[in-house]
Amino acid sequence: MAQKIGILGGTFNPVHYGHLAAAEEVRDRLKLDRVLFVPSFLPPHKNEEDMPSAAQRLEMVRLAVAGSRNFRPSDIEVRRGGKSFTIDTIEELQESHPGAELYFITGLDSFLEIRSWKDWERLLRKCSFVVLSRPGFRFQDLEELPFLAGSGKELAALDNGEHIQAIVEPDGFRICLEVVPHYDISSTDIRTRVKRSATIKYHLPDAVETYIIANKLYA
Ligand code: ATP
Ligand code: MG
Repeated sequence: MAQKIGILGGTFNPVHYGHLAAAEEVRDRLKLDRVLFVPSFLPPHKNEEDMPSAAQRLEMVRLAVAGSRNFRPSDIEVRRGGKSFTIDTIEELQESHPGAELYFITGLDSFLEIRSWKDWERLLRKCSFVVLSRPGFRFQDLEELPFLAGSGKELAALDNGEHIQAIVEPDGFRICLEVVPHYDISSTDIRTRVKRSATIKYHLPDAVETYIIANKLYA
């Protein structure tokens, strides 16, 4: 049977339990063989000052998934350097994993911006997408995407808790919409907390917290 590989891309500045718990939920639901955590080298849509280096963000991902059977860190974007475009990553993974089924996993907040991604239509034809619910965002807002116009009822049913999962296949795309348990955790909040010396315990794995403190990140 074809290997099913999930790919969670992100800045991971830093990686946290919101990423890990959501990835585990979709791994289980979609029966993925593994999930690759792919920190970007240069996120095209972010302009963070004093961002830890790509090597440091990758190291935090390594620490977070160490010992997990199904999660792997991937240095594919860090090695490539330059702006990290998902289309390049997916094409590279398709070459290195012939025959595998690829599932790109993204939060609802990121997917709402999909039309700003490089070659987004081609990208959506190349692999399945998994869109995760995220506190503060509604699936209904996806109706503004032309290919989901008319799916309002289905999207509202997810927001209303009538279903936890829906698969839509507009225009030859394959998009799995997943309501995952909500962890109101974000890297932005973690960075702000570190800055004001507030606790970040239970927002992310202990090893990552220790790394942040030892390297004086976000202080
Ligand atoms: P920042 O606050 O810096 O944007 P973030 O917490 O959103 O950081 P990213 O590295 O941007 O983390 O996230 C990578 C991917 O994981 C994105 O697609 C994002 O939507 C998703 N994601 C992050 N946190 C959660 C969460 N708590 N629940 C569901 N999806 C999440
Ligand atoms: Mg984000």
